[in-house]
Amino acid sequence: MYIKDFKGIIIKAFNSLDLDTNIIKALKDLEYETPTDIQIKAIPLALKKKDILAAAQSGTGKTAAFLLPIIDELIESNQENNNTLRALIIAPTRELVNQINKAIEDFARHVEIKKTVVFGGVSSTEQARKLAKGVDILVATPGRLLEHIRNKTVNLSSVQTLVVDEVDTMLEMGFLEDIETIFAQASTTRQIMMFSATLNQNVKKLAKEFLSNPAVIEIASQRSTVAIIDQQIIQVDPEQKSALLSYLIGSRNYSQVLVFVNTKKEADGLVEHLELDGLPASCIHGDVRQTARAKALRKFKSGDIKVLVATDIAARGIDIQLLPVVVNYELPETVTDYTHRIGRTGRAGNAGTAITLLSVKDYRLMQEIEKELIFSVKRDIIEDFEPTEKKPRIFKARKKPLSHVKSSRKPQGATKQDPKKQKKKKSTKTTKRDANRNFRK
Ligand code: AMP
Repeated sequence: MYIKDFKGIIIKAFNSLDLDTNIIKALKDLEYETPTDIQIKAIPLALKKKDILAAAQSGTGKTAAFLLPIIDELIESNQENNNTLRALIIAPTRELVNQINKAIEDFARHVEIKKTVVFGGVSSTEQARKLAKGVDILVATPGRLLEHIRNKTVNLSSVQTLVVDEVDTMLEMGFLEDIETIFAQASTTRQIMMFSATLNQNVKKLAKEFLSNPAVIEIASQRSTVAIIDQQIIQVDPEQKSALLSYLIGSRNYSQVLVFVNTKKEADGLVEHLELDGLPASCIHGDVRQTARAKALRKFKSGDIKVLVATDIAARGIDIQLLPVVVNYELPETVTDYTHRIGRTGRAGNAGTAITLLSVKDYRLMQEIEKELIFSVKRDIIEDFEPTEKKPRIFKARKKPLSHVKSSRKPQGATKQDPKKQKKKKSTKTTKRDANRNFRK
């Protein structure tokens, strides 16, 4: 069956994807009307037990893309193999593990499926006890899973389907060896699916090593994810940022704001400031204990706190539907982190706002991000928060004629040029116009 979406594009409906009726029923309960791109492409292939390498960011519906076929298969084979570990999902952070676990609960609400999670930061005894009782699906972070493998509290020999979610993040976090060991342990696995925000060289290398003739799926490039989000850039001095943030939340009446910072220290300091301004806030970062993180997330979701301050790694895996506003308190260092951050809003086709508080030191980085993602955002200034920092001068290298390049090449052992002369020469080369041109909006 086919139906039309709001843009008039013909798309498949879930019941054309050959999924068990209990799953379709659950999707109806969850008010999922139509499958997303990644679901349309991945589900039929996954049901055919193909290995899959998919480039899909969070927010695209990738979790359902790998979970629905897994649950479908478990329903089909449950009679014989009840409570035998058949599906293993590895994810980089405990937040993402919990999110996937919750999605299993949602999608498998009308069927009997046993699942459990393992991740670090909490006691492993209770995890081992649950594993010993027998489960169908295990969702795990790599480090703690390895610990269970070494302690023989888990055995992967019966795993039929293995999913590695957010592979690029895992490799960035240094989990390569752990993943390889896990693959080796699950050597009889019949199907492997890898999901990653980007298919970089390292991801492709890992896929080549372990996947057998995989279907490669690439959907919604970083650019199109960015396109549905209203992006705003506000220029401000660094020391004014916290006051501006409180002002924006108050004056624009934002109900729920996720704020990204680059360091744990900054996260703690910002929460203190927001609280002093009367805005209930909490933070999640690597030093915040798992129970406190879960509590912060719960309070944020329920609306008890307005602002959640997070570092990139801790924020991976946070899923809050209809999150209206994301703030880049500091710019992240990579384009991938930028798209990951702002992808927290505007999820699954919903509108969202992403605000970047930009100070002079990040002007150039912001330009690079815009260039890479092919978009351009107008710079705003808020009254009473006007930036006073000087714009840095940008020295543009002029192309020299080849003859000049050759003749100016220093022979071996040449003495250093007089630094005063060098300086003088440089300053005559860059006009004020050159420098300003770099900051034109
Ligand atoms: P994910 O990319 O898996 O993190 O999913 C992002 C969000 O989209 C989650 O909140 C899902 O519940 C939601 N979602 C996934 N698939 C659909 C769908 N087909 N229709 C509506 N919402 C969906």
